Amino acid sequence: MLFNALFLWSQNIEYPQNYFRKPLDIPIILSGTFGELRSNHFHSGMDIKTQQREGIKVFATAAGYVSRIKISNWGFGKAVYITHPNGYTTVYAHLKKFDTKIEKYLKKKQYEKESFSIQLFPKSDELPVSKGELIAFSGSTGGFYGPHLHYEIRKTNGAIPINPMLFGLRVADHKKPTINQLYAYPLSHEAQVHQSANPVKINFKHQKNGDLIADKVVASGTIGFAINAFDRQDGAINKNGIYSLELLLNGKKVYEHNVEKFSFAESKYINLLIDYKHYKKHGQRLQKCFIEPNNKLSIYDKQFPELGFIEVADGMEYTAEIIAKDLNGNQTKLTIPIVGKINPITLPITEKKTDYPIIAADFNKFSRDGVTVAFPKNTFYKDFYLDFKVNVDGSAYIHKPTVPLNNSYTLTFNVSKYTAEERKHLFIASYNYKNKPQYSSTVRKENTFYTKTKKLGKFALLSDFKSPTITPNNFKEGQWLTKFRYLKVRISDNFSGIRSYRGEIDGKWILLEWNLKKGVLVYDFNDRKLTGTKHKLKIALTDNANNTKTYTATFYRK
Ligand SMILES: [Zn+2]
Repeated sequence: MLFNALFLWSQNIEYPQNYFRKPLDIPIILSGTFGELRSNHFHSGMDIKTQQREGIKVFATAAGYVSRIKISNWGFGKAVYITHPNGYTTVYAHLKKFDTKIEKYLKKKQYEKESFSIQLFPKSDELPVSKGELIAFSGSTGGFYGPHLHYEIRKTNGAIPINPMLFGLRVADHKKPTINQLYAYPLSHEAQVHQSANPVKINFKHQKNGDLIADKVVASGTIGFAINAFDRQDGAINKNGIYSLELLLNGKKVYEHNVEKFSFAESKYINLLIDYKHYKKHGQRLQKCFIEPNNKLSIYDKQFPELGFIEVADGMEYTAEIIAKDLNGNQTKLTIPIVGKINPITLPITEKKTDYPIIAADFNKFSRDGVTVAFPKNTFYKDFYLDFKVNVDGSAYIHKPTVPLNNSYTLTFNVSKYTAEERKHLFIASYNYKNKPQYSSTVRKENTFYTKTKKLGKFALLSDFKSPTITPNNFKEGQWLTKFRYLKVRISDNFSGIRSYRGEIDGKWILLEWNLKKGVLVYDFNDRKLTGTKHKLKIALTDNANNTKTYTATFYRK
């Protein structure tokens, strides 16, 4: 216990303690920790479980003012930002709705702009809040997640997210992190592990005290290690992220990183922290205990010049130790004995040369058979030969998806052979790992269509001629709806996906909220008082291939 308290104290001395209260009044159980590894980014907050339901009261964790409201069908869904006078901003996301004051302010702006999606930056005197004031109700808006509250504390200046646990927001955690997998990496040109020049999985055994001992690693040259690890807190089985990872060689620390804070700009370098190829192939994240060149992450403790690389000499023996920690002082140690031995090995086949060499530091642009790829500077982390093909059916193959990208690139298709009518319904699709085509945000510009993407692999121009569909969900044509609070319609699209919708009652715009999980649009009759009894509903949908559908209905309401 004493150790835990000391550990926490030493970590968070620079952050105000107990300034922020809990955002919910229910016990804090996490389904996600700060700094957890996600797709192309670190998790910037903590995900608090809301008892598998929506509508749990969300409170301002300290006094301040609402400085930003963002409403979107994706990402954070409905989110509110509160700026506090002590230099920090708190963020509350995936909300179902806001409490009266904020909800009223928001709806007014949405009706003015005739848009559900909106971003607002209220002035400091418009929506002040006190500590513990009810601001919203938890939900599951945004991406396809279950109900939870995403809560963040950011340094207002620079919008730097910081681990909320360092501000004294306690979460019970008596469980040690779990290390699942260990891989050894031959890293220098002549390096080998177990007579292989490729990464090798190393088995390990559990000790009575929970620590681990790996099988002897026979290697030579420069090697490194990576592990798959997770941490569980009390009260839930969710596999969350660990706080820190250390590597010691013969008792001396040679690598450390921790997720105290990071900047959004650097977050994408996570693709160099993990073994990206392994992740793309197996869906499992191995975090490296060595720092790749070009890795600009600030999470590393830079005082260790070895950067986690281990030089193994023939005839020598070494002991490496990997220590995974959570923020409550629980830790798991994995000990790895290493024996230096040069064995005869077959060197890997050198990379296949193509006509498309990528110089990572330069702008690279290639064209063939009506397809152009343009990669801005530093799209890639290292130089390589791009595999770029255009098939007879016109589809394009842009390298294998196991190479990580730091930025988006532009992929352009020439569409001059298509008629104007054909072009109207044509779009660029990318194929996922199941070879299923998906709409890729397409910009139509005269004889060319282009998409900005971070994906590699197969792309094609595809057509969609089918209109989206819309059907009433909780009412019938000509029905009396006086007692109804909500009006719901079901919407769907067969292929390219719904791009936009617009709803009107009696010719006036109405706010329709799109529940993506249920595929319904919802109108709240409390938004506006209707005049008369007979009303006309009109909803128009457009998909990503310019197919439209308009639905009209008559209903009665007093
Ligand atoms: Zn989250």
